[in-house]
Amino acid sequence: MYWNENEMKTDIINSGIPKDISIKDHFGRTFNYLRFAVNEECNLRCIYCMPEEGVPFQEKARLLGKNEICRIIKIMSDLGISKIRFTGGEPLLRKDLLDLIKYTYQKTDISSIHLTTNGVLLPRNINQLVEAGLDGINISLDTLNKEKFKKITRREELEKVLEGLDLALSSGIKSIKVNIVAMRDFNDDEIIDFVELTRDNDITVRFIELMPFDSHQIWKTGKFYKADEIVNDLKSHYNILKPVKGSSTEYYIYKIKEYIGRVAVIPSYSRNLCSACNRIRITADGNLLNCLYSQSETNIRDAMRTGMQDSGIEKLIIGAMQKKLKNGWIAQGQGNDLRESMTQIGG
Ligand code: SAM
Ligand code: SF4
Repeated sequence: MYWNENEMKTDIINSGIPKDISIKDHFGRTFNYLRFAVNEECNLRCIYCMPEEGVPFQEKARLLGKNEICRIIKIMSDLGISKIRFTGGEPLLRKDLLDLIKYTYQKTDISSIHLTTNGVLLPRNINQLVEAGLDGINISLDTLNKEKFKKITRREELEKVLEGLDLALSSGIKSIKVNIVAMRDFNDDEIIDFVELTRDNDITVRFIELMPFDSHQIWKTGKFYKADEIVNDLKSHYNILKPVKGSSTEYYIYKIKEYIGRVAVIPSYSRNLCSACNRIRITADGNLLNCLYSQSETNIRDAMRTGMQDSGIEKLIIGAMQKKLKNGWIAQGQGNDLRESMTQIGG
């Protein structure tokens, strides 16, 4: 193990903040869910996320190392975080991802560990991930059609992703979700095919609104497919969509009678869900974002690298989250400096 547990324990003992404190903001929201982007690189080039070439990756030294990530995870756990999602970039490209999961599982109080992946590297990793303590996996898959897959990701990896999904289904993992960025004139004709995956499989198929993070501006091409419209289209196909309970972002979530899985629609652009937000985001370069649309960040990496104690980092995190604005519209309105690519934020 690379992390220095003794050093960490000393810091925790020295910390002045009671350990049962939860992270709160001025609107009564509490934060127990950490989304950690552990890298920026990717083995796909989804057109709404990254340009094909000339991706401005940061130099490695600016990104968090394993010990730094573990330290932040431990601090977050002490502040009451109970759920974590590893994302990226493509988190499975990170060679020490298993160590990060094992660390979280074995050394912290975080009880729910999840991964968002494009699925390409799942076939060779899924069993080790589950053994390491992973509870849930979200696989991003926008189409079931080989040609369209190549068009949207600029790579020919559909078979690997489908194999990964199959293996995940037999791996014993507790939760499997398939994330589909829903787009007009691209995959709006496939929503029923995706829903049909829930007939025999205990998975949640989630249609996600396109968001304005992409250097190629696909956002402005008329492909936006609003959550309400997706719901209406689903309702016009299926007579009975029974509402069920989902996660805080699964604003619309249904089960079709006699189907095993669930179908969710996520208004990530429409932002109907801000009042229930429970998320803290950390980027691969160690910045905390208190909202996906936030125009300002809190640099945890430099605080750690200049020797700040855990107690100081805790205060930094609590202070940053207290300042969270009421909703993503207000946050976005504070400037026009959204990060260029979702690969930096992790979705
Ligand atoms: N590479 C991994 C993957 O694709 O699952 C994890 C990182 S990716 C940035 C996380 C999620 O963000 C994916 O489900 C992806 O589809 C979504 N995403 C990226 N850019 C987006 C955009 N402009 N609008 C909506 N979702 C986006
Ligand atoms: Fe890579 Fe995920 Fe972005 Fe696609 S959405 S380019 S898989 S980081």
